[in-house]
Amino acid sequence: MAKFSRREVFGVGAAGLASLYLPSVALGSSQGSRGRPRNVIFCVSDGMSAGVPSMLDQFLSTVHGRPSFWRRLLQDGRSVQTVQETCSLSSLVTDSSAASSAWGSGRRIVNGQVNCFPDGTRLIPLYEVLKDRAKLATGLVTTATITHATPAGFAVSHPTRDEEAQIAEKYLSLGVDVLLGGGDRFFNSSSRADKRNLYAEFARAGYRVVRDRASMLALRPGRKVLGIFSSSHVPYEVDRRNRKELRDTVPSLAEMALKAIGMLQDSPNGFVLQVEAARVDHAAHSNDPAGILYDQLAFDEALEAIVGWADQRGDTLVVVTTDHGNSNPGLMGAGDEYFDSMAGLEKLAEAKASFTTLLAQVGTQPTPESVREAVREHLGIGLNAEEAELVSKAARRASDLQKVDLYSGASSALAMALGNHYHIGWSGPSHSSDWVPLLALGPGSRQFARGWMKNSSVFDALLELYGIRFQNPPQMSREEMLRHLGKRKEALRRAVREHWLA
Ligand SMILES: [Zn+2]
Repeated sequence: MAKFSRREVFGVGAAGLASLYLPSVALGSSQGSRGRPRNVIFCVSDGMSAGVPSMLDQFLSTVHGRPSFWRRLLQDGRSVQTVQETCSLSSLVTDSSAASSAWGSGRRIVNGQVNCFPDGTRLIPLYEVLKDRAKLATGLVTTATITHATPAGFAVSHPTRDEEAQIAEKYLSLGVDVLLGGGDRFFNSSSRADKRNLYAEFARAGYRVVRDRASMLALRPGRKVLGIFSSSHVPYEVDRRNRKELRDTVPSLAEMALKAIGMLQDSPNGFVLQVEAARVDHAAHSNDPAGILYDQLAFDEALEAIVGWADQRGDTLVVVTTDHGNSNPGLMGAGDEYFDSMAGLEKLAEAKASFTTLLAQVGTQPTPESVREAVREHLGIGLNAEEAELVSKAARRASDLQKVDLYSGASSALAMALGNHYHIGWSGPSHSSDWVPLLALGPGSRQFARGWMKNSSVFDALLELYGIRFQNPPQMSREEMLRHLGKRKEALRRAVREHWLA
């Protein structure tokens, strides 16, 4: 696989890149880590267990002979580093909506809701506060549907994350300035239950609407953009990179992030922008090694672009983190003296498709031979007969592991079979309670120099930077939560302990 040139990464020529980087204020206005930022860019690699950035770095070093940007960021010593604890009101294991809402409202809420308590109490989301009180422009960029839980948690309050069509309407009411991601089905009159054409409604409200990469790249600076690039989530990066029709029509995360910055950078009072590599989480749920590494690579490239821009400005706080761990992948020791582990990473360079693409091709009734063919075609790996049998049985729901919750699915069986080749292990198919890394750099980054922090402290830390005194209604207790969810008192034993909510 070829190395990625800067041109390939950004999809623009050197001149285009230079103009993207052109600052709109004088250089050298750095206020140090204690100052107040003009802009905040909050970067989230969703569902990124702590082992994912190191595995990407080892993959890039082994296969391409270069470090990740994440490592360079750590090595240059400019960033403040902390770990973040991520529990929700309903569990030590959060989902994306409760985690994003903790950042977005300063309160721990029940998994599945967005910035509200189960009694219907509405919590005012971060973007609404920053827009009202600091007059910041706002932006959301993601590789999920733009209405997905993580971006939604910054901007709206809604009883359930699942009503994405309604969340799209709330973006319009709030007037989020830049929206770039997937999710056509929540905007298009042909797929919305109420037949409303949200594209037309956004256009009437002054938004420029773009639906493909070329139109997005051609946008001239100016506020209010809605860019939607797929029916549901944006394709996995490993699929996008290897299929010309996707590469041509769907922008990379770095391209979306730089375009959003270009749109927002001249707003008179600064901006806040969330940039999410959402499919790291989806690849983790599928235990898909190439899926997770290439989406983390897209995140790494977006970070390099964002920090490159922020460095020229000196007035922008960049926060880099994840909302929770997921499936905790890791490169495992294999062979004599563990010599074989590196060969696993080298084999990953041959991967040309996500598990989702590969398993969709083999269907629900695959033979061992059809599994072997698909794995050879998409991943360049020759499974032996037993490995192919393991996957085909799991796809047909006839596996011995059918009753083992953590390893029952076809993608889990595929990950196990490929574990013999990649030497990458997974601890399950779902979110984990791990503490997760958080880096911050630029003015205001001192707010995060805490060693260890709760995700719900991020809200206050950001508001403080803008001198805003604002508190949402007090934290709901676990007894109240259970009462409103209609759970019996005995559930208290299993509910998350009160001290996590304080
Ligand atoms: Zn998830």
